[in-house]
Amino acid sequence: MEVRAASLFAGRNWLKGVEEELRRCVHCGFCTASCPTYRLLGDELDGPRGRIYLVKELVERGVVTRSMVRHFDRCLTCRACERSCPSGVQYHRVVAVGRAVSEEMGVRPFFERWRRGGLAWWVTHRALLRWAVGVGRTVRPFLPKGLARLVPPRAPREWQWPSVSEPRERWWLLEGCVQPVVRPEVDQAAATVLGVVGVEVAYARGSGCCGAVDFHLGRVEVARARARANVRAWWPAFAAGERKGVVATASGCAAFLREYGELLEGDEVWGEAAAVLGRETLDVSELVARFAGELRRHGREEHPNGRERRGKVVFQAPCSLQHGLGIVGVVEGLLEGVGWQVVKADDDRWCCGSAGTYSVLERGLAARLGREKGETLAATGAEVVATANIGCLLHLSAYGRLPVRHWLELVAERVAREEERVARRRR
Ligand code: SF4
Ligand code: SF4
Repeated sequence: MEVRAASLFAGRNWLKGVEEELRRCVHCGFCTASCPTYRLLGDELDGPRGRIYLVKELVERGVVTRSMVRHFDRCLTCRACERSCPSGVQYHRVVAVGRAVSEEMGVRPFFERWRRGGLAWWVTHRALLRWAVGVGRTVRPFLPKGLARLVPPRAPREWQWPSVSEPRERWWLLEGCVQPVVRPEVDQAAATVLGVVGVEVAYARGSGCCGAVDFHLGRVEVARARARANVRAWWPAFAAGERKGVVATASGCAAFLREYGELLEGDEVWGEAAAVLGRETLDVSELVARFAGELRRHGREEHPNGRERRGKVVFQAPCSLQHGLGIVGVVEGLLEGVGWQVVKADDDRWCCGSAGTYSVLERGLAARLGREKGETLAATGAEVVATANIGCLLHLSAYGRLPVRHWLELVAERVAREEERVARRRR
């Protein structure tokens, strides 16, 4: 099946940039060795260079086929290939165009379109997801093993925002979609840790999912609508100087928010605001790191003179953190600062296989990567895995052998214990 796509590029700013990326690629193939899907499948078209060829064909000839779509689908968008590209090709922009155009041209059969659309709808509507997860927990013991793995095992705990007296800074906290339903403790930990150093965070009314889920499924207009809604909710307080920017506790969302400028480029109402807010977005590790010295003092009694290290943790750096945002070693430093002994896993540049909805839509490949990663992490001898993205947390909990936490939860527990100890001493 062939579909003509050339007319789709007319007047579409975010699509246009792909030509520059395609020109930049010299087809050297250095990126291929760092690609997990090429490693597993051994097919050139399941590696970055092959997919770049496919998008080039799409752009030049305006042709999309089912087989091309299959190769785009198998990409994790982990961006490991970008790290090894000497020409600086922004591969994720290339594959995004392949996906978006394929989606718009309706190349997929009806059932596949329905399944993908349904998944995006289900995942990004918190009330629906909350209900589904509740049902899943109830029937979990009766589900086939493969399905049961996908249901988060723990019920979330109730929590309240800590009050920060005379905050030195105020930030918007991205509420997101999946995380507040399956692991609200992460945002609680963020509010606690940041509160201790005088930073107040809050959700903005009217904000929600960042749009990454839809975007990676090729539903670009839906993603743009979500981005617009978020910018509309955040902008007034930001422009008035009441909030310094946006902070996200899931690195996948932070990486996506950073690109709001490109996503809403050409939007007459919100385009400029999106670009500014994109630049003023931080992953929570970047914000916490600004106050690392103070935080370390809060953990000091836990490990006097740095000699007493309690607990061994291995940090699984999500692809969105290390390849997308280029943040390397920051979280490890923060964990060590409050007394954890951080050990390193082999091959820590490989994706764990989560990749948003990939773990559901490409279950076979995702499970292989998840099991491999789980074994590598367990081999470190750590007692717990820390990560920075909710997708990785759920995927590694399903396929790994160690308990998995968000790193903020581990830091918040240490900080809270120290606060309690100091308060007890004062009494
Ligand atoms: S994306 Fe970069 S590393 Fe890969 S083939 Fe093109 S130029 Fe070479
Ligand atoms: S983003 Fe990841 S899976 Fe996709 S081509 Fe690049 S390295 Fe391979």
